[in-house]
Amino acid sequence: MAEDNLKEKWKSFEDSCRNCRACDLAPTRTNVVISRGSKTAPLMLIGEAPGRDEDIKGLPFVGRSGQLLQNLLASYGLTEKDYHICNIVKCRPPENRRPEPSEIAACKKLLAQQFALVKPKVIVLLGSTAYEAFYGDKPVMRDVRGTFVERKGYYIMTTFHPAFALRNEKMKIPIYEDMGKVRKKLEELGLIESLED
Ligand code: URA
Repeated sequence: MAEDNLKEKWKSFEDSCRNCRACDLAPTRTNVVISRGSKTAPLMLIGEAPGRDEDIKGLPFVGRSGQLLQNLLASYGLTEKDYHICNIVKCRPPENRRPEPSEIAACKKLLAQQFALVKPKVIVLLGSTAYEAFYGDKPVMRDVRGTFVERKGYYIMTTFHPAFALRNEKMKIPIYEDMGKVRKKLEELGLIESLED
């Protein structure tokens, strides 16, 4: 019964996303890119915006940076059943430019609805655009990354965007370290079983 209700809510939410025309990204999109992974995961990862592969497939993080992220998460035993992945905006910005503040603002309502449906406990912001959209100020990434901030019962961490590590191999190391901290936090909170048992 409760599950049916959740399914209906998801359907209605996904319909709202697919019918959305709230900003100038709508006319040029192929697909609205909503989420990948579990709809009830304790962990939500939030990136910037869909790229070309994501726009074509209608799924977030399915291109090269998504593959890298998936591998880093998998090295800590985290698979799609453990996380919900999405973006600050649900439509591809032309030429993969950064989403404009007005586009981020237009998409905020849908992200808030998504958040209320998934109810994650641990949130990872991937890159400076996600950070800025969430906190409202520009980060110095090397200062803010890798530490959890507790806010209203949620544990939020920022890390580098995986696309950064595609351009600079060395950046895989801090993202890898940060995913380890995410695994540890999920275990500490009793949201997943310890790997050591
Ligand atoms: N980069 C993002 O921020 N999101 C995607 O879905 C793909 C690449």
